[in-house]
Amino acid sequence: MRGAVIHAPGDVRFEERDDPKILHPADAIIRTVATCVCGSDLWAYRGLEPIDQPHPMGHEYVGIVEEVGGEVTSVRPGQFVVGSFATSDNTCPNCLNGWQSSCLNREFMSTCQADYVRIPNAQGTLVATDDHPDGAFVPSLLAVSDVMGTGWYAALAAEVGPGATAVIVGDGAVGLCGVIAAKELGAERIIAMSRHEPRQQLAREFGATDIVTERGEEGVARVKELTNGIGADSVLECVGTPEAMRQALRSARPGGNVGFVGVPHEVAIDGQELFFSHVGLRGGPAPVRRFLPDLIDRVLTGRIDPGKVFDLALPLEQVAEGYQAMDERRAIKALLKP
Ligand SMILES: [Zn+2]
Repeated sequence: MRGAVIHAPGDVRFEERDDPKILHPADAIIRTVATCVCGSDLWAYRGLEPIDQPHPMGHEYVGIVEEVGGEVTSVRPGQFVVGSFATSDNTCPNCLNGWQSSCLNREFMSTCQADYVRIPNAQGTLVATDDHPDGAFVPSLLAVSDVMGTGWYAALAAEVGPGATAVIVGDGAVGLCGVIAAKELGAERIIAMSRHEPRQQLAREFGATDIVTERGEEGVARVKELTNGIGADSVLECVGTPEAMRQALRSARPGGNVGFVGVPHEVAIDGQELFFSHVGLRGGPAPVRRFLPDLIDRVLTGRIDPGKVFDLALPLEQVAEGYQAMDERRAIKALLKP
């Protein structure tokens, strides 16, 4: 089979790789229906994460089950499945508490930009749809496997509830899905921070009521202006840089909450500032598995359409172009189909 391999910053190649095999009775092999490039893949692509040796890429997937190991009874060959970027047995204490992305047997997916993928912990990780969904749903189901699940978690971590004012820091795919989540969870006012016109438009389509184009202290000041000088109830931090985190923490009102899902890179939090802010803070890799059945249902009933974040669709063999387009911000998110 063929798949993406990163050799060095800026150097992603589509090349021949070994076919994945069942290595453990809890594994499954899926044939990829769609995969994509994640904003977090760009950290390595931009040289901000070390690449010790060439390695496969990709952690988002929907597919058709090809083969299952002896312990897998929850899905069977031929079914269309959605899974999370963090695999989970769904039976350990952390999974039972709803924190599947901290599963004691967790393995992060990292080989999904390929024709076939091995899914560890398939029994607890994969969720099958009742039927093969119409192709029009595929982008949104793919979004659910990571960016929509992560945006959903950001909104829950920021404790968005009915009537809340929510601020979304970051206009990448996760931030835009965070707008959808805030809307679905009942936020009345949704302030999206974005300087890019097409992304602002999509944010509005997803439910944003206000757009703030300023950044840093000016951005914080603008949010305060829009919230009677107090700050927002809930802030979703969907970037992972020190600037974005500072902006998020300072945009929340005393007693408000920040959910942070951008993978932090050199983010340091000032203990005293946090102490005196009275702001609650929770983040981490989203326990997407907890939300999958609900989010799949919202997609298939037409309530949400997070697949709109894919503004570029390419054949999988052009995966390198997907990275480049996202790196240059020509595309929000690239969908890849074998
Ligand atoms: Zn577990």
